[in-house]
Amino acid sequence: MPVVVVESPAKARTIEKYLGKDFKVLASYGHVRDFKPKYEAVDPKNNFKVIWQVPTNARKHINAIISALESDPNLILATDPDREGEAISWHLEEILKAKFRNITAGHKNRISFTSITKESVQSALKEPRQIDMDLVDAYLARRTMDFLVGFNLSPILWKKLPCGASAGRVQSVCLRLVSDLEQKIEQFESRNYWTISAAFKNSKKQEFKANLVVFDGKRLGKFGFDSAEAASNAERLLKELKHYEIRSIISKDSTLNPPPPFTTATLQQEANRKLRLKSTETMRVAQKLYEAGHITYMRTDAINMAPGAVKECRNAITTLFGTNYLSPKQRVYKNKAKNSQEAHECIRPTRLSQNAQGLNIQGASLTQLEANLYDLIWKRTIATQMASNLVKNTKVMIKSENPGLELSASGKVQLFDGFKKVYNESRGEAAKASDKDESFDNPDLPALSEGEAIDLGKTNVSENSTQPPVRFSEASLVKTMVDHGIGRPSTYSSTIATLIDRGYVIPVPKSNKLQPTPSGRVVVAFLQTYFPKYMEYGFTAEMEDLLDEVSGGRANKDRFLSNFWTDFAPKVDNVNNLDIKEVIENVAEVVAPQILVNGSSSKHILTCPNPHCDNGKLELRVFKNTDPYFSCSKCKYNQPFLYGKGGFIPHSEVMGKDPETGKNIILKSGRFGKFFEIHEEPSSKSKPKRASIPETFKEGDYNLDLALKLFSLPRLVGSHPETGTEIIAGIGPLGPYLKHDGKYKNLEKESPNEVFEIGINRAVSLLNETIGSGPGNLGVHPEGGSISLLNGKYGPYLKWNNINASLPKSVKPDSLTLEDAVNIVNSKANRSKVINLGEHPQKKGPIQLRNGKYGPYVSWNKINATIPKDISPKNVNLELAAQLINKKIKG
Ligand SMILES: [Zn+2]
Repeated sequence: MPVVVVESPAKARTIEKYLGKDFKVLASYGHVRDFKPKYEAVDPKNNFKVIWQVPTNARKHINAIISALESDPNLILATDPDREGEAISWHLEEILKAKFRNITAGHKNRISFTSITKESVQSALKEPRQIDMDLVDAYLARRTMDFLVGFNLSPILWKKLPCGASAGRVQSVCLRLVSDLEQKIEQFESRNYWTISAAFKNSKKQEFKANLVVFDGKRLGKFGFDSAEAASNAERLLKELKHYEIRSIISKDSTLNPPPPFTTATLQQEANRKLRLKSTETMRVAQKLYEAGHITYMRTDAINMAPGAVKECRNAITTLFGTNYLSPKQRVYKNKAKNSQEAHECIRPTRLSQNAQGLNIQGASLTQLEANLYDLIWKRTIATQMASNLVKNTKVMIKSENPGLELSASGKVQLFDGFKKVYNESRGEAAKASDKDESFDNPDLPALSEGEAIDLGKTNVSENSTQPPVRFSEASLVKTMVDHGIGRPSTYSSTIATLIDRGYVIPVPKSNKLQPTPSGRVVVAFLQTYFPKYMEYGFTAEMEDLLDEVSGGRANKDRFLSNFWTDFAPKVDNVNNLDIKEVIENVAEVVAPQILVNGSSSKHILTCPNPHCDNGKLELRVFKNTDPYFSCSKCKYNQPFLYGKGGFIPHSEVMGKDPETGKNIILKSGRFGKFFEIHEEPSSKSKPKRASIPETFKEGDYNLDLALKLFSLPRLVGSHPETGTEIIAGIGPLGPYLKHDGKYKNLEKESPNEVFEIGINRAVSLLNETIGSGPGNLGVHPEGGSISLLNGKYGPYLKWNNINASLPKSVKPDSLTLEDAVNIVNSKANRSKVINLGEHPQKKGPIQLRNGKYGPYVSWNKINATIPKDISPKNVNLELAAQLINKKIKG
């Protein structure tokens, strides 16, 4: 029996049901060949010849098709009716013609249908055709161009701009849409305006609302008055007037026609607004409905409907709602079909008499999501042949004895619901923003007549502010892509999904809006700087049109590709030869005015804002897997990218440069706590060097100095004078230690810096002595614990618990008394004592009271403020400390 091949098992099951036992239906499971994922897969010098490869998991599906064809080599290719579907059929034919003599290029073995119903499949079987090589060429041209762009741009991004994950032709332009809008939002400056409304009563005491529209002989615009004062002056005048009457009444009936049937883009938009589905979800669910035979093919930009379906639709309306609701004339929807082979239908149910409930009664057992989406498609389709919605709009003008002042009231009454009985199109975000102009003050105006005297009631001044543009939702982004001619029905949802996957765009929490990330914005700035043409909306749309020309057989694939390549290739070479530092500087110039606050020219913006900094320049820092940010070339000032106008989320922090390698040292968080990492270029083979930060160091101590010290561990302290073997100091899982002769001795956790500083003498004595019984034991401190006199690298010193105090020069070790020793260690203990006063009330972060060489001081975030002599350190509380710190910051 003949072998029918489709792309998915679900579609295979549906078709099998219609064809019965005389056909064997098999699935290819999508594409059976793909570009070899190597740079050389496309050879631009050899007519863009492609090296194909059969993915491992496709082999068994091909083998199943081959073994079926061995019993009957009669092949029927029934893949989806678009370029992708045509390409799958072509790939299959290319593979199979090598095995079966009857299968040849040009053989009439291809059938296609836009809905999977018994009738359409059977009638398609009667008209097999050749594979349409124009459609295949358009597919090849797009795939090849996108491959060349991706395989050339992505490595450049890795090299020149480590935060960039990848770039794609359509994807990057779509990212620009999101980035450009964000810039508009950031630059938007809201202003306030005031409007005045008033309540009136007619002669029958029925109330209605009106707005002040003309004042002082001038028509007030949408933004009314620009100050509260002007508005309240106007309100006062309004109240002083004695006589109001109806000057004119204009009533107009208006009709609203139903929206056209669904295309891919409008389905994605409505499903996003009404069902809150992501574009990819919509496509996944629609595909299930299509493969089960419930709806027509879901990738289409056509709005026309098959004549049979229109008839069915009209019958369903008459049955369900009566002839009143049927549009008297058949509505015809048409948009320009680019190529006859690609002229599909709209997306509609295959059987219009059945809503979702009806389908389920028939045993379709739809999931809730499938039922909801089907319901949406069914309603939209039914609405297209329903009567128009009929509304009566009334506009009333009100005058007073002051000829320079007028008010207006409007009302709207629905006379007939028409198609709105079934379907109400959601309004896009853009429409919502301008709702104000269209809104009606009164859903139902009372009966009024011209010349009728009316009484003024309450007046109201309201303060409003202009609103920034609204971020894209998936729905409005798809709409904008369609408006710009960017992408095609098969690519809208995957383009947006890729941007989210790459971390260039993130969904704003708790909303369905999309926001560009700092990486996304830097990538856009980079591409706009070095590949401006490829970031133009017009150019991208032109490419889509050219591909349509190829698919219509009016343009040649190879010429299309070589035109593209001769322009693109030299640009890639150019950028490849640029110095990475120069690239990042140029990108910084573009991106800085967009994301850094204050200032207008980029040169000015890039000056370090730290008043204590000596003319440092803000430089753009970009790293893999981290948000880019700006930091000063001279001081420690960091400026993360603003996320919108709200806060920002810096993911990691740069501490400074490693003096040895010149590489950046970054503070990062990992599963086991914070650590420092010496940054490696993504292209570098070596693993980045890391040092975990012991808990003994507080966040406030994290700086380049600490990082460098940690990276210096383990370090050689010296050779033990008695054994001659090395003494090593390091930090292990149990904390800081000394290692000698295979034995470890833990260092006190309370003096975390000791591991960096410990000298050979002290190390030796620590390794040798048991504290309190050594030869230098002077006696017991009044608070407990022995005081020892030891010899260190810098001379003799006293040790008591964790305190090491060197002997003042004036004191001779031989004549040292216990009392002297207690005084010396006590004063040292006081000095190193740190008292935590608490969190800085305004700026967060701990404030500490310390004792320094020059007396007591408070410290916060590396800012130290001396305590004035007239204040005793005992009286320093958090509030006073914060005041001292704040005063120090202000200078
Ligand atoms: Zn600076």
